[in-house]
Amino acid sequence: MRPFRKGPVPLKRYTYEIAPVFVLMEEEVLKKLRALVGWSSGDGVFCPGGSVSNMYAMNLARYQRYPDCKQRGLRALPPLALFTSKECHYSINKGAAFLGLGTDSVRVVKADERGKMIPEDLERQIFQAEAEGSVPFLVSATSGTTVLGAFDPLDAIADVCQRHGLWFHVDAAWGGSVLLSQMHRHLLDGIQRADSVAWNPHKLLAAGLQCSALLLRDTSNLLKRCHGSQASYLFQQDKFYDVALDTGDKVVQCGRRVDCLKLWLMWKAQGGQGLEQRIDQAFALARYLVEEIKKREGFELVMEPEFVNVCFWFVPPSLRGKQERPDYTKRLAQVAPVLKERMVKEGSMMIGYQPHGTRANFFRMVVANPALTHADIDFLLDELERLGQDL
Ligand SMILES: *Cc1c(COP(=O)(O)O)cnc(C)c1O
Repeated sequence: MRPFRKGPVPLKRYTYEIAPVFVLMEEEVLKKLRALVGWSSGDGVFCPGGSVSNMYAMNLARYQRYPDCKQRGLRALPPLALFTSKECHYSINKGAAFLGLGTDSVRVVKADERGKMIPEDLERQIFQAEAEGSVPFLVSATSGTTVLGAFDPLDAIADVCQRHGLWFHVDAAWGGSVLLSQMHRHLLDGIQRADSVAWNPHKLLAAGLQCSALLLRDTSNLLKRCHGSQASYLFQQDKFYDVALDTGDKVVQCGRRVDCLKLWLMWKAQGGQGLEQRIDQAFALARYLVEEIKKREGFELVMEPEFVNVCFWFVPPSLRGKQERPDYTKRLAQVAPVLKERMVKEGSMMIGYQPHGTRANFFRMVVANPALTHADIDFLLDELERLGQDL
């Protein structure tokens, strides 16, 4: 294949061996993301999505403790246990299954009514797993849970990990971008104590799919040791440039997309301040939605949100003031699916809904698009009122 364009760096064969220029770009972006986490050194890679980033973290944690398992596989391992809250993303379970740990090895830690992991229950479960003969090796906290947008108490969880010598992973796929905001980054206080962080700029920052980083505090080349296979037909050691630039062996893929490029360009175009403004604007817009919900009859917040996930019920006229009726919850649960069907058929909006614990189906409006205006939010509420008048 002829190179697309001749430059100072020979851009040959970069489908397999990522060209040095892209590696430098990736290193620069990863370094900036790590700095926002609070690390002046470390490692990382762009992965095809947060689910895969989470799997990487599990695999690295396991390899660090049992390096033998790279060669001997599951035979090298005792039964392992990892811990995450009931509000975690489903990819933790998928990862456990994919890596041969099995979903039984995932211990589900209690969360409080706002969706935050309860550190005391985490510690209780660690003792219980040990008593049952398992070896705890990893805790995955979530910064920005999928439904409620909750941020786990990272400092308290880090204390538990430290006491028990466990790998501390933070799944910040959704909430990681909040680190760009001086005003809101306190939600992730303690993240600097993590061993690994999964962060999806393709979510809140709206970088094109896919753009997901796995960041590591490790400086011992763990990624390469864990995943490398030193294929001599690709990663020759006698090249004319620094072979440390051959980062391709850190990942489990061979060919790989240049996912860092989108974020690199966004950062260049908008600057750190521009990106920060996007985040602050999303928070401000979510706040506007919350205040409007409080003003309107028939709308009820599930809880005061701390992120941009605004969870609420639309209570149609026939159910207002009828909380005492025995079938109230059952009937309220039927409202969101009907309204969703109506809005989709109308072609005017798409708002997801779900039940949660004992709470009946409620809408979850994620306010992340920086192009949204107050008028759009007003429309959203007007439209729900219009579509739900007769229910
Ligand atoms: C979206 C999300 C993921 C999965 O990310 P993908 O890029 O879709 O694989 C993992 N964890 C959390 C908390 C998420 O919100």
